[in-house]
Amino acid sequence: MPHPGDKVKLLTKQETVEGILMPSPKKDIVMLKLATGYNVGFPSKEVKKIELVEKSKLLPVSLKQVKPRKNLPAIAILHTGGTIASKVDYQTGGVSASFKAEDLLKMFPEIEQIANIHTAHVANMMSEDLRFSHYQIIAAAIETEIANKVDGIIIGHGTDTLAQTSTALAFMLENLPIPVILVGAQRSTDRGSSDAGVNLICAAEFIAKTDFTGVAICMHGSSSDTFCNIYPPTKTRKFHTSRRDAFQAVNDDLIATVDYNTRHIHFHQAYTKKSHVSGVLQLKDNFEDKVAVVRVYPNMFPVLIDALTKEHYKGLVLEGTGIGHAPTNIAENFSNYEALQKFINNGGIVVLTSQCIFGRVNLDVYANGRRLKEIGVISGSDMLTETAYLKLAWLLGNYPKEKVEELLPLNLKGEIKERLAFTEEILKK
Ligand code: ASP
Repeated sequence: MPHPGDKVKLLTKQETVEGILMPSPKKDIVMLKLATGYNVGFPSKEVKKIELVEKSKLLPVSLKQVKPRKNLPAIAILHTGGTIASKVDYQTGGVSASFKAEDLLKMFPEIEQIANIHTAHVANMMSEDLRFSHYQIIAAAIETEIANKVDGIIIGHGTDTLAQTSTALAFMLENLPIPVILVGAQRSTDRGSSDAGVNLICAAEFIAKTDFTGVAICMHGSSSDTFCNIYPPTKTRKFHTSRRDAFQAVNDDLIATVDYNTRHIHFHQAYTKKSHVSGVLQLKDNFEDKVAVVRVYPNMFPVLIDALTKEHYKGLVLEGTGIGHAPTNIAENFSNYEALQKFINNGGIVVLTSQCIFGRVNLDVYANGRRLKEIGVISGSDMLTETAYLKLAWLLGNYPKEKVEELLPLNLKGEIKERLAFTEEILKK
């Protein structure tokens, strides 16, 4: 007799439907969750038969206590929540972060063939809710695991702001002696199409088989279960709401690719090796709260910038247009220019990034950019807006203003690339 959570085949007079059996809100309705994610109810009297296809993966599976094996590396899986830690809530039909790190091992026991795994619970939340205080908790957990002498860390994380956490951690952790790989899932683990297992296994293989050190992201590289990419921590963005290959490196190459079938690892660029790190791990985990992002738009008024000045904000990332512009040129838009000037005169720092996403801001090309530069707006170069925001908040949290201005245009953690072949070529024309 199938139970809620089991994969079943439901037969009515008209059709045969496959899905996950859900507890029914009413006795005379049988509820199924389809592979598309939609819940469908069938009147009980029309259901001729329900066949079991696969037992629920979330029902307790006996976890054999695997003894630590000497030849395997030690990996800690830190659990923070997100879809990778989620299952369907049979009350609401929604997906919620609800299980523990060790449940992942029960579902994907293969990971224990790759490394001696230890799991730790850091949080169980959706990543859109993360605040700087959570980054500090995650960084402290990483520090603890490093003191415990693990060889690598996997952080299970929601995908929405996974790239922001990887950016924050890259700035916070200096002299990181081991790999810290953030892994998420676009589909929860109780769905046949879940990407959680492949992403976790590829991350574990990458840690076990390479001498890479630093923060990185491991997610599906294609929409099928063929390979995962290892993405750079400060140059990566989530580009799709639901596809499993949702992430892309921006203005940068991938770090590596892990073939899921052969387990072969191919590096795409030079990387920091464990042997390159000589200093001791340093945690710089302060962030300035009074930093904001404003995206410019047609018919913009200065109200948002003025409000930030009034609230004594210290930093503003202005997401401008094109190669580095903002609506500040014609008489109707002078008030925007004046508002920026006032923000800067009040001690604030303004960094300009581009809505184009790809390419580099250059404030020397057009008169508009030059006028912005004249009042002290700083070019965000080829940084993503999210990266510029976290860099500015992190710098302001840890350094005096003069030092922040000195460090902003410099490449600290791979967030600014010296050369962008494609953009530079366009500029030369
Ligand atoms: N909202 C979720 C999160 O980012 C989505 C996911 O995990 O994919 O936490």
